[in-house]
Amino acid sequence: MPPYRPPSEANSILIRAVRNCPWNKCAFCAMYKGKPFSIRKVEEVKRDIETAKKIFIGSKTLFIGDSDPLIMRTEQLAEIVKHAYRVFPNLVRVTSYARAKTVIRTKSKEDMRTLREAGLTRIHMGLETGDPWLLEFVKKGATPEEIVEAGRMVLDAGMELTEYVIIGLGGEWWSEQHALGTAEVLNKINPTFIRLRTLVLFPQAPLYELAQRGEFKPISPLNALREIRLLLEKLNVNSWFLSDHVSNYLPVNGKLPDDKKDLLEFLDYHIELIEKNPDMTYKVLTPEHIRSRL
Ligand code: SF4
Repeated sequence: MPPYRPPSEANSILIRAVRNCPWNKCAFCAMYKGKPFSIRKVEEVKRDIETAKKIFIGSKTLFIGDSDPLIMRTEQLAEIVKHAYRVFPNLVRVTSYARAKTVIRTKSKEDMRTLREAGLTRIHMGLETGDPWLLEFVKKGATPEEIVEAGRMVLDAGMELTEYVIIGLGGEWWSEQHALGTAEVLNKINPTFIRLRTLVLFPQAPLYELAQRGEFKPISPLNALREIRLLLEKLNVNSWFLSDHVSNYLPVNGKLPDDKKDLLEFLDYHIELIEKNPDMTYKVLTPEHIRSRL
């Protein structure tokens, strides 16, 4: 397996509590297709943490994989997190991915507080889009209301929250509703971090097949920038806005609301540059062969 983890966890100790994804249906995702999901035994995971002590010398952050460890029973995951702090007493952060639907279906507010008290300090959640139709189209398996509820549960428990947004998920045809719906959901959640990824279609992802059949039209680089601009313009949050991923065309990074004006000007500059001279597209934006190196 490649160890899928967010770029912000590049220096973290990587520990698998579950294997692969229990949902595995998102149309844009190629990560775990064809791989069965399973929950690992707590004792086995704890032994991995002890082994990691010999490999990760001096690491201060730890990431629990794979895609949805919160599907474990709360006391089991809490025990794994506590053991991580016992083995690595200098840890300052323990994080994991979580599906919104899993949080609201399997966790109470008390469960989330138990996990926070154990030391789970940050959750990475895939919003992808806030548009209800598009969420169904890409088979995300959660509604905007459920995503808002799950996000609020994470924040109310005292954890940090990253919400991931996929620029270009609506392609050319549904870009505007994607940007507007996403801004609406993010405004209701007010997450700690909003992190952008720009869609890259891999052959294993069902959306690739839809694009091949003409049922999905991938967004152009210029319209991807316009989409980010519209999203940013509509955001009313106190969040970090980050493009910390190789799939993005431009590094649009800042703290909202303070940096909003500068980020919009940065986007406008590049949009105008490419509108006037389309040849500039691959001179100023990340080229496709780099973007697809995930
Ligand atoms: S995007 Fe996340 S939840 Fe969806 S199939 Fe991929 S790993 Fe699973």
